[in-house]
Amino acid sequence: MPLLVTGSIGIDTIRTPHGSSENCIGGSAIYFTMAASFFAPVRFIGVVGADCPFDIANVFAGRDVDLRGLEIRTQSKTFRWTGTYKETMDDRTTDAIELNVLAEQPPVVPKAFADSRFVFLANTAPRLQIQLLSQIPAPVFVAADTMDLWITNHLPDLRELLTKVHCLIINADEAKLLARQFNLVRAAEQILTMGPSIVIVKKGESGSLMCLADGNKFVLPAYPATEVRDPTGAGDSFAGGLMGYLAEVDRTDFDTLKTAVAYGTVVASFTIADFSLSGLTSVTRRDIDIRLEMLRRFTCF
Ligand code: AMP
Repeated sequence: MPLLVTGSIGIDTIRTPHGSSENCIGGSAIYFTMAASFFAPVRFIGVVGADCPFDIANVFAGRDVDLRGLEIRTQSKTFRWTGTYKETMDDRTTDAIELNVLAEQPPVVPKAFADSRFVFLANTAPRLQIQLLSQIPAPVFVAADTMDLWITNHLPDLRELLTKVHCLIINADEAKLLARQFNLVRAAEQILTMGPSIVIVKKGESGSLMCLADGNKFVLPAYPATEVRDPTGAGDSFAGGLMGYLAEVDRTDFDTLKTAVAYGTVVASFTIADFSLSGLTSVTRRDIDIRLEMLRRFTCF
């Protein structure tokens, strides 16, 4: 089942205690697509400006990624993001952000993508997420991500978006900020009252928590990774592995969601091993499945 995604395409500059990477490819939709493409065909929607130094077709060469939704705006500039990780790698600061195309009108969904049933609205302005979703007539499973910038400055748009999605995938700190609640389980339950029937909270190296409106819950630790050079994109590739698996099996019941969370966890563990997309590019589906079985053994008692 094809999976449609929209989100940011970024020119990133990243500094971690292990090194730095200037003007590398990033953005929520890029990491998501790379991760999801191990599982299902991806329909990609995003915008760059004339200054974009990356050949996106080349980035996804050999993968089942349909780029008919990629728009190059000759009068605009590409989204840019600069971040620095602390010594402990568990926290980062955004040093600079230039929204550029993300502050403009949303991309158009090509007619060939309008029948998409699985949709992921990766992190971008919630108004763009709403406008994109309005162009898809009958999605069966819509998930979204967001971040502190949008929670703080665009809350009415975000609250509207939450009434239109089945699932929110969000960082722990951002869940607490959105729910105004320090207890994480209560925060997730509070977000469930805002619209989605599934809330998945990413807790970095502490794993993830999934809460459903019917009361079901699932917790999973992170994969015990020893190689961590650049955590950028971990959240987006978690979402990519998770949504990619759901689209692959074309189901969203609780047991399938649990396996999807495990796949997301494993794909993210590959992303963080190196800068930008380098941690993911040489990985195969077999590597992912082997690590999934390891995670299953590590968490079974
Ligand atoms: P993650 O580490 O999963 O949060 O994803 C990091 C990626 O998100 C980077 O490649 C950035 O280009 C992108 N990003 C950072 N801030 C934003 C934002 N406000 N909107 C959209 N994408 C963003």
